[in-house]
Amino acid sequence: MTKGVHLTVAQDRLPLSNAVVMRGPDRDKRMMFAIPRGSFTYLGTTDTDFEGDPDTATADREDVEYILAATNALFPGATLTFADVVSTWVGLRPLVRPPGHANPSAVSRDYEIFHSPSGLVSIGGGKLTAFRAMAEHVVDDLFPGSRGARERAASRAALPGAEGPLPTAADWNRLASNTNTRPERLREWLALYGSQLPQVVSLLPVEAGDEPGLAWHRAMTRYAVEHEMAQRLEDVYRRRTGLMLFSQDNGRAWVQPLAQEMAELLGWSPQRTAEEVRRTEAAIAAMLAFREDTRTPEVSRAPVAAQQQKSAAM
Ligand SMILES: Cc1cc2nc3c(=O)[nH]c(=O)nc-3n(C[C@H](O)[C@H](O)[C@H](O)COP(=O)(O)OP(=O)(O)OC[C@H]3O[C@@H](n4cnc5c(N)ncnc54)[C@H](O)[C@@H]3O)c2cc1C
Repeated sequence: MTKGVHLTVAQDRLPLSNAVVMRGPDRDKRMMFAIPRGSFTYLGTTDTDFEGDPDTATADREDVEYILAATNALFPGATLTFADVVSTWVGLRPLVRPPGHANPSAVSRDYEIFHSPSGLVSIGGGKLTAFRAMAEHVVDDLFPGSRGARERAASRAALPGAEGPLPTAADWNRLASNTNTRPERLREWLALYGSQLPQVVSLLPVEAGDEPGLAWHRAMTRYAVEHEMAQRLEDVYRRRTGLMLFSQDNGRAWVQPLAQEMAELLGWSPQRTAEEVRRTEAAIAAMLAFREDTRTPEVSRAPVAAQQQKSAAM
């Protein structure tokens, strides 16, 4: 496996209107990206070999320094430091290593199909952008008779949120005023939910009382539970709504009310609710723990030689 770290800074610290390709600060000049998302810009990724328990993978000080060094080299005026980092996240790439191949990070990002004696078919490696081709390949493998039937509906269907019409300008203005929401915030939710946004709107609390941001997050949490099968508060925070990664306080102020929202929907006991809160707060602390790692001084504006970044980003 190889580890890939991204980090987020506030949009006003690195204002971009489009995604930008950057080069890594190491000798190989790996390809990296700076991508605007709502009020934030996210940067990444690293690519280092990883062995160990996947649950323990976090962004290290070196990872953050590496990304900041690449960014500051391309945008010298930004002078980003650790203090600018709002959030980090880590992904592990499960790469298919050919026998005798030493370094996971030097391995191709292609995919491979495996057959078990029991008949189980597994697929490993690959990329998100190739998921339909990978799925077709598995179906071809399982049902060779259907090979070549390229017009399979599922391969061409719109993704959830991409079907149906998007709100018109009139819908948009009405929604912003009825929900007391800033238009740029609505744009963020539209980018997240697409044509499913009206379903989220229908879940907004009826009684006024909450500030608009919390009301929206109650609705988004309900949507995650009722339509996306979310079972854990940390999952909602991290993956479903992105509150943990794309908000200045990482959603700390709303952990209790959103845990309560899930508790009511999923019938959690007070103990389970407290455990969900604890896990979520621990996850928020873990993603920023690199700041407390004092093994090496912060050198975010200098090229990082220590980290062995080897292959092209993906
Ligand atoms: C750092 C990094 C950068 C990448 N960049 C790119 C890129 O630029 N372009 C590209 O095309 N691809 C990229 N990829 C690859 C892409 O992310 C994956 O191919 C894609 O996410 C695979 O989708 P998936 O749904 O199969 O699995 P995942 O996205 O991994 O989703 C699986 C989900 O299941 C959950 N899960 C696992 N076990 C359980 C369980 N027992 N119970 C409940 N839930 C469980 C996991 O937590 C996870 O949320 C990148 C990957 C990494 C790590």
